[in-house]
Amino acid sequence: NPIIDMRDVSFAYGEQADLALANINLAIDEGSFVGIIGPSGAGKSTLASILSGAIPHHYSGSLYGETRVAGLDTCEVTLTDIARVVGSVLQDIDAQMVASVVEDEMLFGLENFGVPHDQIEERVTAALDAVGITDLRDREIATLSGGQKQKVAIAAILALAPRVLVLDEPTAALDPASSRAVFEILREAQRLTGVTVIIIEQMVALLAEYCERIIVLDRGEIALDGAPHEVFAHS
Ligand code: ADP
Ligand code: ADP
Repeated sequence: NPIIDMRDVSFAYGEQADLALANINLAIDEGSFVGIIGPSGAGKSTLASILSGAIPHHYSGSLYGETRVAGLDTCEVTLTDIARVVGSVLQDIDAQMVASVVEDEMLFGLENFGVPHDQIEERVTAALDAVGITDLRDREIATLSGGQKQKVAIAAILALAPRVLVLDEPTAALDPASSRAVFEILREAQRLTGVTVIIIEQMVALLAEYCERIIVLDRGEIALDGAPHEVFAHS
């Protein structure tokens, strides 16, 4: 069974708006590493918002079709139910942070999810270690670089042990070395925990190196879908 299953999904941000996504049919296997690419306005962020439940739970609009994550119909369950399965790192990383100190950012989600206290310390330590930011634990988030903030956001999500990670251009503001570091962290998480990684990214070289599958969106539709060597042969 695929961990993500979208059937005939369309979405418009308003009654009069054009479709941001049009008739998407998409199945993603658990444990895969999938890149989403396409020109500006293609519907990449909209797709991420549907997978993370922000659509329909935060944004109103016209949503058609059915999206299931780990068997849950995203329209039928609460945002919290979806968040237990899908961890998302959004484009606006500053807006996503809820705490001012790294450790508190890590604790927030764990406490919210009711993770038993004797497991919390272990989860925080393991996630900080996995992302290589143990030394940032007591730092003020406001004093961190863009790359460090991305790592904190990823560590905080990994600590929640999601089955799916959705990342919307996590490397957009990063230099090449930090961008590669993010992909390395994700690949290691995939290897160790079997988490499914879905990443929106512009850097074709990184996608080609790390992804098993590339989906190209164009004007709200899937224009290409295949292994990197198949997809990039067309561009
Ligand atoms: P923008 O003009 O908004 O930057 P682009 O058309 O340059 O958008 O596309 C954004 C990214 O998507 C680029 O890295 C480009 O290489 C990639 N891309 C666009 N179309 C394809 C395609 N058909 N196959 C593979 N990659 C594509
Ligand atoms: P991408 O991430 O590929 O750049 P988006 O999913 O952000 O594409 O956008 C797809 C379409 O939906 C675009 O036409 C965009 O203008 C529109 N759109 C995106 N977000 C909103 C929003 N919050 N309100 C209205 N229209 C939006």
